[in-house]
Amino acid sequence: MFADVALPVPLDQAFTYRLPETLWHRVAEGSRLVVPFGSRKLTGVIVRVHEQPPEAEARDALNLLDELPVLDPALIELGRWIASYYCAPIGEVLKSMLPLAGEMRSGKVYCLTPRGREIARQYFLVSDEADAATQILRLLEPKELSASYITRKVPGAARILKSLESKGLVSAEDNVAQRDPLRASAERLRVEFVRRDESAKLKKSERELLSFLELHPGSHNLAETATIVKGASESARALARKELVSLVLESPLAYSSTSEIPKKLNDAQQAAFDALAASVRQQQFQTFLLHGVTGSGKTEVYMRAIEATLAMGRSALLLVPEIALTPQVAGHFYRRFGDQVAILHSAFHDAERAEQWRRVRSGAATVVVGTRSGVFAPVQKLGLIVVDEEHDGSYKQHETPRYHGRDVAIMRARAVGATVVLGSATPSLESRFNAQKGKYQLLELPDRVQQRPMPTVELVDMREEFLQTRKQQTFSGRLIEAITQKLEIGEQVMLLHNRRGYSSFVACRACGERLECVNCAVTLTFHRGDRRMLCHYCGFSRRPPSVCPKCNSEHIQFLGTGSEKVEDELHQHFPKARIARLDRDTVTGKRQFETILQSFREHRYDILVGTQMIAKGHDIPNVTLVGVVAADIGLGVPDFRAAERTFQLLTQVAGRAGRGDLSGHVLMQTLNPDHYAVRLAAAQDYHGFYARELQFRQSMRYPPFSALANVLIRHQKQEEALRMSAELGHLLTPPPEKIKVMGPAEAPVPRLLDEFRYQLLLKANSRTNLHETVSRLRSHALQNRWSPTSLVIDVDPISLL
Ligand code: ADP
Ligand code: ZN
Ligand code: ZN
Repeated sequence: MFADVALPVPLDQAFTYRLPETLWHRVAEGSRLVVPFGSRKLTGVIVRVHEQPPEAEARDALNLLDELPVLDPALIELGRWIASYYCAPIGEVLKSMLPLAGEMRSGKVYCLTPRGREIARQYFLVSDEADAATQILRLLEPKELSASYITRKVPGAARILKSLESKGLVSAEDNVAQRDPLRASAERLRVEFVRRDESAKLKKSERELLSFLELHPGSHNLAETATIVKGASESARALARKELVSLVLESPLAYSSTSEIPKKLNDAQQAAFDALAASVRQQQFQTFLLHGVTGSGKTEVYMRAIEATLAMGRSALLLVPEIALTPQVAGHFYRRFGDQVAILHSAFHDAERAEQWRRVRSGAATVVVGTRSGVFAPVQKLGLIVVDEEHDGSYKQHETPRYHGRDVAIMRARAVGATVVLGSATPSLESRFNAQKGKYQLLELPDRVQQRPMPTVELVDMREEFLQTRKQQTFSGRLIEAITQKLEIGEQVMLLHNRRGYSSFVACRACGERLECVNCAVTLTFHRGDRRMLCHYCGFSRRPPSVCPKCNSEHIQFLGTGSEKVEDELHQHFPKARIARLDRDTVTGKRQFETILQSFREHRYDILVGTQMIAKGHDIPNVTLVGVVAADIGLGVPDFRAAERTFQLLTQVAGRAGRGDLSGHVLMQTLNPDHYAVRLAAAQDYHGFYARELQFRQSMRYPPFSALANVLIRHQKQEEALRMSAELGHLLTPPPEKIKVMGPAEAPVPRLLDEFRYQLLLKANSRTNLHETVSRLRSHALQNRWSPTSLVIDVDPISLL
């Protein structure tokens, strides 16, 4: 017997292997099989079992990982659609659909040896410019990382890792082995006393912890324990190895939440709910767009629709943006639906994810909440899929396969006759257009719940501010005044500044040189907290220079304000205010995000400063003032979605104001008060924006008036990248029927991660023609044996950068 196996390699075909007799009765389509591939061992998914010997000699399969298939036939079919639509190899698609995509990564997890650690530290002291090997050692300093992650961060890492390993500086471990709880962070662990062993040799801190736990029976959160017993986090792990204490992962059930369930839907909510419930009942595929202003109670409509779905004996899948899946949100669902809920989140530990996934497949969990990849959860008897904040960019995967979770959700629902609801206060142009054409059915919630008013919005023209004060100020007089007033009456303020770091670039006043990343054509951002210049694309960092690296001048200037500086200046203006900051530098894990938000919710801070992270869906009743420091950030980006994204962000952040009994006010500082995205966001006029933006898209033939594919060519050698892009350009001259080709041209970021980048943008009138064309480009690359990472095809790109 033979099995055709889809392997995670950049080729379109499946590979045939001979099955040893021991597997004959156990193999099934959709199960994972470990097979030899060249000199490597790879794990793939069986797509066919048969008895036809292939033409060439087939190698023997090694072992079977699953007794029950991990992908059912419908999901494999969905995978085939994704492979074809997004022009991605089937093996890589199926791999990314698996519950433990991490586990599948061929390859290893690396960590520093003690010697490696020593060297990483020394290099850190003496060298600013990092070569690839040093970069890897530094990446590994805080934590162990998978080979695939390191390779993404540091080009050519695979070879270097091998040499570092042979020098004894790093050690590798196979990733396939289940990772144990001993490695989880303290916040995620519960610790409990097991026994005493007088013969065991214990350190003082270990003895202390053991005594504490013995005196306090029951299980304790390890992070909390560590605040009482010094060094508990390390001691607990050492004690667990000796089996004197138990360490287990904390169940998400422990998360609690307090908000109550509204008793009665308002008329608009009721009408939306009725339409959804009727559709689920009919078991016919249909897509709805639920367009409800911020605070209109969309979540409550989802909840009721899910309840109705369960009452009909079917299951529901809810997708939310990555940042929105907080323990708080999870808590809502647990309280409402009890142990029928499964939460799928990439931040969860492997073992925990596997457990949630098993509950979904067995049918024990009928309400599944997940982020983008949750769309592949093996939900049984699927009746309803909700895609919350459907306009959110995190639904699009930024690596192969570059699928859009929302669109995959629709395809999945179509195959099984399920209902789809796409919800947003600022629907994407595409979705709103589909509703206009009648492809989706539009449901509207035009008002906030309980007749709460929309916030009032005021634009502050920073050009006038400059004329009056003759100074470049971060805050206008108006904003300072408004914040002062709110602080006096004990209400809370949120301030959006959508740019990380302290200063966004460093320039020399003498020669004009700007400090760029060594790997990317990108300026480095100064982060004051850890005193370094950081590349936001590749993570490269160095010390800030004291003299210009080009002309040795001492006149180094730090320019461009980031959120760190905004926070800093706020402290100066309001020395007594309690201020917190929420951005990728203050939040490195899920828990921190929730901790900061929760403290703000409990009014342990007066002002919350942050990047777009603060704009998403939080419901904090005491926030009555929202300030936008620079509404124009993002408008200058060379991307046709720049206006749409700016409008969405400003509308969403404005929607954080006045969500409780107190009414809200919004101040937006801008240098472009007449730009339609800013003006219409201030007017909270979605329909006006939609009409205006649609015109622009139509005149430029951008989506939804065309289908786009972005074709990126990248290579470490510029000549190679140029040659390849010219070849593709040649293939497309004259342009294929119904397709407009732009480029090849230098990409907006021409050098990234030490690779030169060129791009071609294809605008097509017909999807079929687009598909044929990108397939042709891909075959060309395969035939000419281009390295698989050299050609990136992004169908329906959400960003052209
Ligand atoms: P959206 O997601 O549309 O921004 P939410 O779903 O977060 O809005 O709802 C905002 C608040 O209104 C929540 O606190 C929710 O509990 C409350 N709410 C929702 N529906 C009702 C209702 N019918 N009556 C009273 N309060 C409601
Ligand atoms: Zn200079
Ligand atoms: Zn970089």
